[in-house]
Amino acid sequence: MFNKVLIANRGEIALRVLRACKELGIPTVAVHSTADESAMHVRLADESVCIGPPPSRDSYLNIHQIVAACEITGADAVHPGYGFLSENAKFAEILEAHNITFIGPTAEHISVMGDKIEAKRTAAKLGIPVVPGSEGGVSDEGEAKKIAADIGYPVIIKATAGGGGRGMKVARSEDDLLVALQTARSEAGAAFGNDAVYIEKYLGQPRHIEIQVVGDGAGAGVHLGERDCSLQRRHQKVWEEANSPALNEKQRNEIGMICANAIAEMGYRGAGTIEFLYENGEFYFIEMNTRLQVEHPVTEAITGIDLVHEQLRVASGAGLSVTQDQITFEGHAIECRINAEDARTFVPSPGTITHYHTPGGLGVRVDSGVYAGYRIPPYYDSLIGKLIVHGRNRVECMMRLRRCLDEFVVDGIKSTLPLFQDLVQNPDIANGDYDIHWLEKYLANHAA
Ligand code: ADP
Repeated sequence: MFNKVLIANRGEIALRVLRACKELGIPTVAVHSTADESAMHVRLADESVCIGPPPSRDSYLNIHQIVAACEITGADAVHPGYGFLSENAKFAEILEAHNITFIGPTAEHISVMGDKIEAKRTAAKLGIPVVPGSEGGVSDEGEAKKIAADIGYPVIIKATAGGGGRGMKVARSEDDLLVALQTARSEAGAAFGNDAVYIEKYLGQPRHIEIQVVGDGAGAGVHLGERDCSLQRRHQKVWEEANSPALNEKQRNEIGMICANAIAEMGYRGAGTIEFLYENGEFYFIEMNTRLQVEHPVTEAITGIDLVHEQLRVASGAGLSVTQDQITFEGHAIECRINAEDARTFVPSPGTITHYHTPGGLGVRVDSGVYAGYRIPPYYDSLIGKLIVHGRNRVECMMRLRRCLDEFVVDGIKSTLPLFQDLVQNPDIANGDYDIHWLEKYLANHAA
């Protein structure tokens, strides 16, 4: 195992990783910007290093400062969390060149999956079903028209370097296509510094279902079932659950084994998520995330497996702690992402939390880095925390979630708690009857 792990992140995920390291007896180093001096991850780590001013590019994205922090503290491994440098192949390469282990996949696997066209090609080769679409990037208008006509409208134009739901445009007919192509390209160029885009079939009413995988880098790979992340706003996940209300055991095992076999064949090392859209009984690969996901706790709740422990194990060469036949799925779990935003307008609400009380009891987990008196800085994402609830079945889980949302208090700033209090009482949600457009439609009908 490692002598000391540096956590190159902040907020709830830095705390999450820190907890796993502590349980394995590994000393930790926190890094922080000047805006985060009093953050929880800094207070709880064994050591901490200030790596720069508030803007992320000068601190949490500053590779040189992070490598220097490893050298000063003698950390021999870095956990990147999610976001920031977690899917940056150059960062992984630089660490390896300094004999520091990147707790994640190889730089090569990060690059392949970071380029969505390359990722789709690789997935198809590994036997994973993909969304019909262009073979590669599309720049020429004539070519775009031909491809769209072949697949059939509506189509979606997506950025090769995309992420965070940005740079996507739907074209319902040839009349929309050229404008959609141009807008997608300019948005992609502005957001990612790369304006390459591709075209795929736009699915009308899919669910977003993703499979959690972990590989040991030496030919072993397991899946830990699926998460249903269909409740989204602006392509951002809001509520996630495991198992999916839409899948039965046979479907779960089939798609799960396709993914487990694929990562075994790739020689993939680390945790990863293979994301699909699911419609009319068919799965369509959209992308693979080569890191821990925000919503990983719902998988932990139903499997009892600590995914960060597994990440640390496989990165250190200790291998997986479980084989596929030892992984079972018990009960049901739901996660709500509670943001410092107005629950109706979604306008961010940074500021000081005056009062903070979290729910507790059987089957309840709150992953958060905040406390009463904590000032949410305006520089980073607006996540206050994640409420994860587990029950023996979905009905019990929903009832528990309802009472937890009543107990949760965040005062001083606005939060999205009221949105979840509404959702948990909605009949469609109670029935698990929703697709990726459900939440947007619901919000449009309940506009302020
Ligand atoms: P990002 O990396 O930006 O998150 P994804 O490829 O994962 O982009 O897609 C994010 C979301 O966009 C999906 O969960 C889904 O809601 C929507 N989406 C992506 N591709 C399609 C498609 N082909 N048809 C319909 N919706 C799509």
